[in-house]
Amino acid sequence: MNHLKRNLQFVVSIFAIVIFVFLIGRYSRPQASSDLKVYFLNVGQGDAEYIKTPSGQDILIDGGPDTSVLNELGKVMDFGDREINLVILSHPHADHLTGLLEVINRFKVDEVWETGVEYPSSTYDLWRQEIFARKIPDKIVKAGDSKDFGETKIKILYPLSPLQNSKIDNLNNASVVNRLDYKKFSVLFMGDLEKDFQTKILNENLFATVLKVAHHGSSNGLSENLLKVVRPALAIIEVGKDNTYGHPASSIINLLKKYAVRIYRTDQNGTIEIDSDGEGYWVKN
Ligand SMILES: [Zn+2]
Repeated sequence: MNHLKRNLQFVVSIFAIVIFVFLIGRYSRPQASSDLKVYFLNVGQGDAEYIKTPSGQDILIDGGPDTSVLNELGKVMDFGDREINLVILSHPHADHLTGLLEVINRFKVDEVWETGVEYPSSTYDLWRQEIFARKIPDKIVKAGDSKDFGETKIKILYPLSPLQNSKIDNLNNASVVNRLDYKKFSVLFMGDLEKDFQTKILNENLFATVLKVAHHGSSNGLSENLLKVVRPALAIIEVGKDNTYGHPASSIINLLKKYAVRIYRTDQNGTIEIDSDGEGYWVKN
């Protein structure tokens, strides 16, 4: 009987040690959040990209066409995190701006970057009013502006000069283009800047791991010259299922294939997450 009891004690002790070691391992493992995380949010036909830096800051580029950005952010942001350090509005078309109105309602936004371009739209007027009423610092950005978030850097490549109060015939070509760098990993966010205007930035450092293809993969969204200098490993197309524009264009898909770029699309892959430790990267979706 004693023998049996001793055996049982032994088994229980071993079991307790295993549980203890497991818990220590679980809670002492370096947090996976020390990676940079970039999410291309599935907001239908529109753009919204959320970045979590290794040092814990939140950055949002565009907010998509409706409130779906809130739901998507809810899935990927840390529980209880109600602050976004930087919001970038690429340009005030509704498929980039509308969701941001909800974002500034629900989150404490520390700073907004935009071009200040002129554009008659009630949503844009409301955006202006809300930013003013909430006293959110609102920076008019141009090429060369940048900000460091720990080791992550955001740098503006376009517009080349300030567009505040300027009227632009094609608002897509007033898009903010910016790059994100974290050690050896980088993402180029093109907004909706069209082919003809992409030539204006070819002298910049455009080489990037990931290219967020401009204008939802429209036929005017990617020039071969741009692709040749960016030389991305991955291309992301933010595009809605069965959209009425026929985005993405087959010519753009073929061009990316010609250069052996791996393509991810929000209409097929849903929200696309790319994590990087600054050396390698991992696509999760
Ligand atoms: Zn758009």
